[in-house]
Amino acid sequence: MSKPASATRILVRGLLSPFFPVLILLLFLTLAAVLRHGLEQQDDRQINANLMNEAHAMANGLEREFIIHAQAIQRMAQRLAASPETSQAAWREDARHYLEDFGVYQAIEWIDRDFIIRWLEPIAGNQDVIGFNVAFSEERRRALESSRASGTFDISGVINLKQGGQGLVIYAPVDTGKANNGFVAGVFRMRVLTQQMLSSRVLESFSIELLSDGAPTYQLKPSDDTSEVFSHTEPVNLPTLNWSFTLRPTKDWVQSQRSDWPAMTFGSLSLLGLLTSLTTLLVQVILKRNQALLKTRRELEREIDQRKTIQLDVARLESTDTLTGLANRRFFMEDLAHTLSIADRQMRQVALVLLDLDRFQMLNDSLGHQFGDELLIKVSERLNGLSNERILVAYSGGDEFMLCQQQVDSVDDVIHLLGQVKQCFEAPYEIQGQGFNVTATMGIAVYPHSGLDADTLLRNADIALYRAKDQGRNTYQFYTEGMQDREVMRLELDKDLSQALRNDEFVLFYQPQLDLDRSEINSVEALIRWQHPRRGLLSPVDFIPLAEESGRITDIGRWVVMAACRQLARWQGTPYEHLRIAVNLSGRELDDDELVNHIREALESENVPADRLEVELTEEVFIQNIERNLNQLSRLQQLGVHLAIDDFGVGYSSLGYLRDFPVDVLKIDRSFINEVTNRHDDAVITRAVINLAHNLGMDVVAEGVETEAQLTFLKNNHCDVAQGYLISRPIPAAKLEHAMADGSLLKRIAVTSEL
Ligand code: C2E
Ligand code: MG
Ligand code: MG
Repeated sequence: MSKPASATRILVRGLLSPFFPVLILLLFLTLAAVLRHGLEQQDDRQINANLMNEAHAMANGLEREFIIHAQAIQRMAQRLAASPETSQAAWREDARHYLEDFGVYQAIEWIDRDFIIRWLEPIAGNQDVIGFNVAFSEERRRALESSRASGTFDISGVINLKQGGQGLVIYAPVDTGKANNGFVAGVFRMRVLTQQMLSSRVLESFSIELLSDGAPTYQLKPSDDTSEVFSHTEPVNLPTLNWSFTLRPTKDWVQSQRSDWPAMTFGSLSLLGLLTSLTTLLVQVILKRNQALLKTRRELEREIDQRKTIQLDVARLESTDTLTGLANRRFFMEDLAHTLSIADRQMRQVALVLLDLDRFQMLNDSLGHQFGDELLIKVSERLNGLSNERILVAYSGGDEFMLCQQQVDSVDDVIHLLGQVKQCFEAPYEIQGQGFNVTATMGIAVYPHSGLDADTLLRNADIALYRAKDQGRNTYQFYTEGMQDREVMRLELDKDLSQALRNDEFVLFYQPQLDLDRSEINSVEALIRWQHPRRGLLSPVDFIPLAEESGRITDIGRWVVMAACRQLARWQGTPYEHLRIAVNLSGRELDDDELVNHIREALESENVPADRLEVELTEEVFIQNIERNLNQLSRLQQLGVHLAIDDFGVGYSSLGYLRDFPVDVLKIDRSFINEVTNRHDDAVITRAVINLAHNLGMDVVAEGVETEAQLTFLKNNHCDVAQGYLISRPIPAAKLEHAMADGSLLKRIAVTSEL
């Protein structure tokens, strides 16, 4: 393909070269020259033919005239032969007539048998010739004798005349043989002969050279200006003479014979060549200008393209998040608004999914921003795998991603997408050589039910997301009617929470834990409550997640530890001084480096031994701490506080950490105990957990014991401690003391155990 293209380019370059018009001109000039040459040659041939015709006509004329004159002389000879007695006077009279009739003769003579000129007409100017012997040479004598013998006339050839000048003599014998009576001779002067025979036109136009036996004998040269190119030699057919003549035309004659065509052809072709090359030059100028214009246009177009690319790049940069390469929030919202306007026309639904990485803040804070960034990039890569013409994935900042699903026909489409998102979090993320299990929580708002514009949809998806977080993360929640109210409440609570500590609105309730072996209450779990000024007593599930999000949990946690220590101190020296208090710590609290110091300070300030305090951490928090190699747990243990794993069994399946880390207490999650008497698998698990804990040297607490059957099961299976509504709900300290004092708690158990 490139060869023809380059051949065309070379051709175009050649056609546009300045030599091209010159070449055209040269071509035309050459053609003109060749044509002119051809036409001139044709002219030359024509001139030669004309010359030949002229010569031919001339020769014919000469021959005719000559014969006429010769015959006239012959007739005179015949008349003299017929009348031998003719007197000189009569003969001269006759000769005079002839001279008048045939003006070419210079003189007419009678020559006797001895070749002596006897009579002569005209006498004037020729007197000297009388008595002249014309057989003056052997050659002449033989010719004359031969003529006399044969009776044919003889011509002398060009001779120097006795009368002067050059001439020619025709001898006609008067009778033949013995009867011969001399000759009648006619003398021509060559000049007169030729002048008589040749027209003035011919004489003007040609130079004539007479040749006798090939040798020049007479020259008639009217003009020096004869052509050197053209000449023609024509034989003259005369009796006894071997004559020819060469005709040379004058240059003027040659010129007059030439046609105008060669010059005209040459001129017009040259002119045509000049015009063509000028036109070519003009076309070249136009084409070059055109090319220049095209080039300028191409350059302009290239520049425009470049600008467009730059603008696109700028637009892309403006619409793209630089870290993740995903669309940014601004672009996403613009696109969402546009999508909604289309969906409105098409009567379709649109789903907006807000996705929050669980525990991202914690990971980011503890493992560093580099880690956080890498995790965000990896998550983006996986999520971006879901994007197509119907799904737009964007990064909104922090640990939040947004997905927009267009053309949703039914909720199943959204559920399918959520399943795909979940799959993105199934495999661990490889970061800095380690695998991390990351989960995500999602809130979904669907147009048009959950909002008619982009902002409302986003706000409602956000509300749904918070609800999902409240439910324990790694889940999703669709926005529903009424969520808004809860959200408003949540926001209000969050605001109020900032005042709660200052206003001393928190209280600790205590839920007793029954030692199943001894049927004693030796420990209680401290469960926080918020005495809200307007809403009344609030459960921790209503505000702990809020506090975790806002970070207020750290202060609340410190307050809880402090309050527990104060309670322990208060109980010292009372019947309740043996009680151990278990406090709940959230993962976020464990991130606080000062936690252990603070607990120590609290214990010390209240002068409470460390083993009076137990710290409950969920299984999940435990594992994260071990994974992150934080030594908070070791430090807590070194401090002497008990460690308990709360809600055991619902979080992680890995039990390896139990072996690696010495925990004092395992609290079986309420969900197992709930159905422990009804469901075989729950019973099996509970038994297994009890055995496992005992084998590892830990005590087991069963949470959520509500029925005697459950209690019996636990007792039978050697569970160490039971906690639940059956024994007591979480109650204020005073109430607890009261219940313990009057033995009402144990009474119920005693009754139960009897059963
Ligand atoms: P948790 O640590 O597992 O606490 C036990 C929860 O189960 C308590 O709910 C308690 O009232 C409830 N419970 C006890 N016995 C029964 C029963 O027989 N049946 C049923 N259905 N429930 C029972 P509460 O007090 O609402 O606390 C909820 C969660 O809030 C706690 O779960 C704990 O994780 C968290 N929490 C409570 N106080 C604090 C605190 O001071 N700090 C932190 N960080 N979290 C706390
Ligand atoms: Mg607990
Ligand atoms: Mg629990």
